[in-house]
Amino acid sequence: MAKEIVDVLIIGAGPAGTMTAAKLIKSGLKVKIVERTHFPRYVIGESLLPQSMQHLEDAGFMDALVARNYQKKIGANFRQGQFQEFFDFSENYTEGWTWTWQVPRDDFDNVLAEEVQKMGVPIEFGSSVIDVNMEIEHPIVKVKNEAGESYEVEAQFVVDSSGYGRVLANLLDLNEPSASPTRGTLFAQFKPAAGVVTGEENNKVTILVHNKDVWIWLIPFSDGRVSVGFVGSPEYLESEAGDAKTRFLAYLGTNSDAMEMLEGMELCMEPKEIKGYSRGIKQLYGKNFVLTGNASEFIDPVFSAGVMFAIESGARAADLIVKQLNSESVDWQNDYEQHMVNGIEVMRTYIDGWYDGRLRSLFFAHSKPEKIKNQITSVLAGYVWDQTNPFVSRSEKTLNLLSEVHGNLEVV
Ligand code: FAD
Repeated sequence: MAKEIVDVLIIGAGPAGTMTAAKLIKSGLKVKIVERTHFPRYVIGESLLPQSMQHLEDAGFMDALVARNYQKKIGANFRQGQFQEFFDFSENYTEGWTWTWQVPRDDFDNVLAEEVQKMGVPIEFGSSVIDVNMEIEHPIVKVKNEAGESYEVEAQFVVDSSGYGRVLANLLDLNEPSASPTRGTLFAQFKPAAGVVTGEENNKVTILVHNKDVWIWLIPFSDGRVSVGFVGSPEYLESEAGDAKTRFLAYLGTNSDAMEMLEGMELCMEPKEIKGYSRGIKQLYGKNFVLTGNASEFIDPVFSAGVMFAIESGARAADLIVKQLNSESVDWQNDYEQHMVNGIEVMRTYIDGWYDGRLRSLFFAHSKPEKIKNQITSVLAGYVWDQTNPFVSRSEKTLNLLSEVHGNLEVV
């Protein structure tokens, strides 16, 4: 069987994979990405967080991204009936970027993939990683191309950035049940009907509380399209009969806020459904491998944190791989796994607080001190490692206390 030799083999060319690749190639390593699909390809997850912007700039992606003229996102708007609260990223408690973008991911991921190829990282599209042998000094990865031919890649290090493909988690038996309840999503895109002009209020993501357990995202893009999705329990998403489109339109029709926001717009993408996407994982690294982005843990999407964790994990993994391949000692447990778990657990606290009502009651409180709002805004912008923010360093306690003191009892 043919064999290729590289320093680092990356599985998957989503944001986790391309961020890792862009940082590794700067250190002069020989890097290759194997990507199952052909780009541009559709993937869900279009609302980014400001915390990612510094990484995108450091990795050298910024000029190419700016040229795409994506919709600027300056904050997040939450609505529940008469209650509404806007969190403006320019009021961040943590220092850092105060805006980001809302991006059609087929285009965004394609730009990152094109840029890493220009930097010198080959991407083999249309090929899948189907097996690995991690038990030897240099791992061997088995790849199958579109013609059905298999070949081997010998690497010093393997990065799994395969997202929902979860290649190493499946092959090395690393999957665990998710700590989050099973939820599903029904989603689609709208575009303005002929002659309709949109534009106002497009610079934010809107999250509508549909009912206690179900919420809706509305993410406008710069070309006028709006991504719309329901997230909730499988019971709710199957409470109407019919295919995804029938059910999606039935649920949408019962939400007057969403209908008002989509006035003058028409469906431009067949509604799709995904169930049970949350995943747990036993470990995020092992001998000569690391899991990044969705290939590791994936929690609920209510605060649009998926790409942020993908980019953070990719950037951090790359720095540690460079050290390891330079024969420096690396503390993967503390500097990678614990770091990622810390951030994920902060976000999980607020996701749990969202669904059990504590966070919504604080969001929609009639008055809350400005500093508290700034600190919440920081978490919503993705700054979940800023230990000076009590909403990060003592997340559960702070949420409990403040939702009791300032919470709005009419909500929930
Ligand atoms: P991906 O972007 O999934 O890329 C993985 C790549 O690996 C794919 O291109 C795939 O083809 C490839 N691959 C898979 N298997 C193989 C194989 N065997 N060999 C080779 N290649 C392979 N995130 C946000 O930031 N904002 C949001 O608003 C948001 N909303 C979401 C809403 C919902 C309902 C859900 C479920 C998720 C949402 N997310 C959101 C999360 C987001 O989709 C992911 O976190 C993000 O795409 C992860 O990026 P990644 O690079 O890890 O994986």
